[in-house]
Amino acid sequence: MASRLKITVLGSGTSVGVPTLGCHCDVCTSADPRDNRLRPSVLLSYQDRQVLIDTTPDFRTQALRVGLQRLDAVLFTHAHADHVMGLDDVRPFNFRQKERIPIYASADTMASIQSCFHYIFDSGKKESNVPQLDARLIAGAPFDVFGMEFIPIPILHGSQTIYGFRFGAAAYLTDHSDIPESSLEKLRGLDVLFLDALRYKPHPTHSTVDRSTATAQKLAARRAFFTHIGHDLGHARAESLLPPGVRLAYDGLEIVVEAE
Ligand SMILES: [Zn+2]
Ligand SMILES: [Zn+2]
Ligand SMILES: [Zn+2]
Repeated sequence: MASRLKITVLGSGTSVGVPTLGCHCDVCTSADPRDNRLRPSVLLSYQDRQVLIDTTPDFRTQALRVGLQRLDAVLFTHAHADHVMGLDDVRPFNFRQKERIPIYASADTMASIQSCFHYIFDSGKKESNVPQLDARLIAGAPFDVFGMEFIPIPILHGSQTIYGFRFGAAAYLTDHSDIPESSLEKLRGLDVLFLDALRYKPHPTHSTVDRSTATAQKLAARRAFFTHIGHDLGHARAESLLPPGVRLAYDGLEIVVEAE
């Protein structure tokens, strides 16, 4: 287990981001910076390593915002556009570090990424620079990334099974509508738990505030943070209605995880 783990929320918003283009609702026009949400991603910092979960379409902006100086690995939860479309922007870290960057994903997710970014993975000589990546497939088994053990947590995103990840005393479960019992078993004794909470109203592929509040309480994580948040939730008001220990994440939030 890494000695110290810091999680930085790079984006806490749903797939279209908040504000949502063309929308003039109270949240999209809010002056509270916590209502400004880029697409969902977290950065894990431990032992001088920077490990990213998902490369959103906002990755470049997110990396600039936190002054990211290096990138050591990327883990993918699934291949929806809001989680992968920034992948090309890892190139400057290839140039700086002069090494390939390992990317971890399930076989399904990797196949989608390879089809979406075919030019990165095509063999043969290339005229322009493309990301230098080392594709590593993950299945259900725990895997090591620079001394940290990651446990893939299968979660249901509508009819699709995708992965959340547990690492030490923290877990990041974005996009899900349901968490199988066998996965809940892997989420005991957490200090920090991230959960999808799109809005109050039910949604076929995403969790809601009520549902994720119930999950947080059932799992008794010391601290729970909601993410993948839509414009239905204004930060201050939505958070004021949550029970102790449950909060809304916001872009730029930094959390130091206590050891297991
Ligand atoms: Zn998403
Ligand atoms: Zn709006
Ligand atoms: Zn998704």
